Amino acid sequence: MMSVLWDLRRVRRTGPALVAERQRARLADLVAHARAGSPYYRQLYRDLPDHVDDVTALPVTTKTELMARYDDWATDRDVTLAEVRAFIADPDRIGAPYRDRYQVVTTSGTSGVRGVFVQDQRMYTVLSALTVARASGSWLSGSDYLAMLRRGNRVAAVWATGGHFAGYSTARRLIRERPIRQRSIRVISVHSTLDDLVAGVGSFRPTILNGYASAVALLAREQRAGRLSIRPLLVITSAETLTEQDRALIRETFPGKVRDQYGCSEFMGLAHGCRHDWLHVNADWAILEPVDEQFRPVPPGRPSHTVLLTNLANRVQPIIRYDLGDSVTARPGPCPCGNPLPAVRVRGRTAEVLSFRRPDGRKVAVPALALGTLADRTPGVRMFQIIQDGPQRLTVRLLLEDGADRAWDQLRSALRALLDTHNLSDVRVERDPRPPERTPGGKFRTVVALS
Ligand SMILES: [Zn+2]
Repeated sequence: MMSVLWDLRRVRRTGPALVAERQRARLADLVAHARAGSPYYRQLYRDLPDHVDDVTALPVTTKTELMARYDDWATDRDVTLAEVRAFIADPDRIGAPYRDRYQVVTTSGTSGVRGVFVQDQRMYTVLSALTVARASGSWLSGSDYLAMLRRGNRVAAVWATGGHFAGYSTARRLIRERPIRQRSIRVISVHSTLDDLVAGVGSFRPTILNGYASAVALLAREQRAGRLSIRPLLVITSAETLTEQDRALIRETFPGKVRDQYGCSEFMGLAHGCRHDWLHVNADWAILEPVDEQFRPVPPGRPSHTVLLTNLANRVQPIIRYDLGDSVTARPGPCPCGNPLPAVRVRGRTAEVLSFRRPDGRKVAVPALALGTLADRTPGVRMFQIIQDGPQRLTVRLLLEDGADRAWDQLRSALRALLDTHNLSDVRVERDPRPPERTPGGKFRTVVALS
């Protein structure tokens, strides 16, 4: 751990030349390791030269393919899909070691293909060091640490629970290793009702609040409505793209710093946000390539079609040039914050526009934000979800304040007026009496386009 920490600091201080050097050396090492231990990679790389330290020379991999070739993928030949499936079927083993030394992390993902990832001790060490040195280290100032000494170090995380999800599994592991950490780490389920969420976060009085962007935005709304009163020194939003509107809401509501982070089950601590809202990629331990549909590089400043991830830390199940599916824009030129690590902004795979047809057959795109803001400003709406569940239909799920009897009528009229403006008079708007729903992975989306 200490040597990894020391190296992280050295790379951060030295800059791009040392980042590139670390990438090349670690990639060559990973490729050699994958070829030696994984039948899948041995076959995939059979026509490549013996020594590879240029990532663009390697073929692209996908979750679908790796999951299909699971038993050939791992470099530890004892890791099998049947065994890992049996392990994750047991909720008591969340955060417990698999085969006495691995962590298992699952994701439902946007593609619908479930990923089950096995991660080794080296990965865990790198992630822990990244958290200490690059996340908290740059986010918290000396006075923040002093305030934390006074007020207590309490991290509340609003995450998906009940499964081997990356964040929850790691929190359980940390507590399992040192039970006293229960006092400083509380995971509140994003699946709980809004009242339980507010009560769970409020009673813990966190100094650090960490959660999915949509959940943190919900808490910000509750705080504004006077139902929550917390004063976190740091708010970390993760896993989802934060809209400008939600970012502003969170920032105006909570007094402390607000920082974004970018991670996935395949590499949790991929990038950490700076005060200029750029996400600095930990490029000494992960290679992130923004690419177009044909996997050709996309220059900085332009949003990519997808992004390829190479995880240089985890060796048991190598993730090399893996199609992650996110659209990423690399920052052209150095970031004014002074961090020499490459910076990106991420637009997740969340649909930003909903597509409908006018009576004359023409297609009309309506921004999700346009619909969401209507619900957002309807008095009495505590939580909402607008779902396009047919080509010409919107279904609205609502959680209303007590006595907000007119909220639905108001929102329906507002949606109706917006659709009519777009010549979409035959798009139906209906209410679903059920409350808003989260994805199986626990993420919450206020506007859901037809998939
Ligand atoms: Zn920056």
